[in-house]
Amino acid sequence: KGAPFPPQQPDLSSSFGSGSGYNSERRMNQRTIARQITLIETIGKGRFGEVHRGSFRGDNVAVKIFASHDEKSWSREMDIYRTALMRNENILGFIAADNKDRGNWTELWLITEYHELGSLYDFLSQNTLNNYDMLIFALSIANGLTFLHSEIRGTSGTLNANGNNYHCTSGYKPAIAHRDVKSKNILVKSNMECCINDLGLAVRHDSKNDEVERPPDHRVGTKRYMAPEVLDDTLNPRSFDSYCKADIYSFGLVLWEIASRTVNASAPIVDEYRQPYHEYVAPDPSVEEMRKVVVVDRCRPAISRHWNNDEYLRLMEKLVQECWYHDPGARLTALRVKKSLVAFRDSLNNEVKV
Ligand code: ADP
Ligand code: MG
Ligand code: MG
Repeated sequence: KGAPFPPQQPDLSSSFGSGSGYNSERRMNQRTIARQITLIETIGKGRFGEVHRGSFRGDNVAVKIFASHDEKSWSREMDIYRTALMRNENILGFIAADNKDRGNWTELWLITEYHELGSLYDFLSQNTLNNYDMLIFALSIANGLTFLHSEIRGTSGTLNANGNNYHCTSGYKPAIAHRDVKSKNILVKSNMECCINDLGLAVRHDSKNDEVERPPDHRVGTKRYMAPEVLDDTLNPRSFDSYCKADIYSFGLVLWEIASRTVNASAPIVDEYRQPYHEYVAPDPSVEEMRKVVVVDRCRPAISRHWNNDEYLRLMEKLVQECWYHDPGARLTALRVKKSLVAFRDSLNNEVKV
């Protein structure tokens, strides 16, 4: 028999993170919360249905609405969010899931914390970054991805991007691979850290049997961001680690997007936002087009020459290249990226002090 895999949070309504504004609702049934939400406006459109800004007793929440025939996607994403210990300030905060009866049809709702600055993709399309914002964006995503990829046992503390311990808890969290890392699946928070969202394609690691939780359809995600081994179908679907390595490749592309929109003394003006591989493929590329560019021709997004004139951008260039290596085994881990960025940030802080 044995314990069910993966462990689940026994009572979601008691696990709202501190500072989420829902602490007073700890004992409230999550279904009751959903009934009290008024939808205000549409804020996003993805593969499944729409995302709305809603209002819950005067607080903003985000409501992702699935049609009832997409129940599998809804319950999958809810299931991942409900994995025990799934709270980190660089992972989108889950609030509740519910059905909404609309008379002739039923909607399936996922309710999460709302971030008014929207996705990283939207943010970079409209704004440039300075060196420090770039560093914190990169570090906070690396922190979220490190957390996601880590198995956590027993009592553990999680560090936020400022190096402060903010979350201490006990239990067990399996390692999770995201499988759809891209700038549209990362949100910008008002404190200018990022958080990772859209966990609908994620898979968990059953470390006891060293198995991926269930045989997943292994060629999923967004084609533009697919790792070479996904594009040429050589990823070992039974190896959990191989999914993490594919996440890191996609993360490398995201780091490139962030660095490409950073202005500083060596580059006071930068190009408008462009998606990775914009110079090689059409807006909605096929797997075959991507495979030709990424696997056969071994192309990667171009790195501007000015990156070399700035210490922040030189670090980003190194990280980007060590994340998007063709050989999955040569890529950095999320933890290595995080540690490099932390060390760099700390060296800057020391310089300021001297
Ligand atoms: P899908 O699985 O359909 O891709 P996502 O969860 O990625 O849906 O959401 C689609 C878009 O909606 C995101 O790219 C983002 O622009 C917006 N969005 C989603 N969740 C939030 C949120 N909590 N706060 C603000 N915007 C959000
Ligand atoms: Mg998405
Ligand atoms: Mg999705």
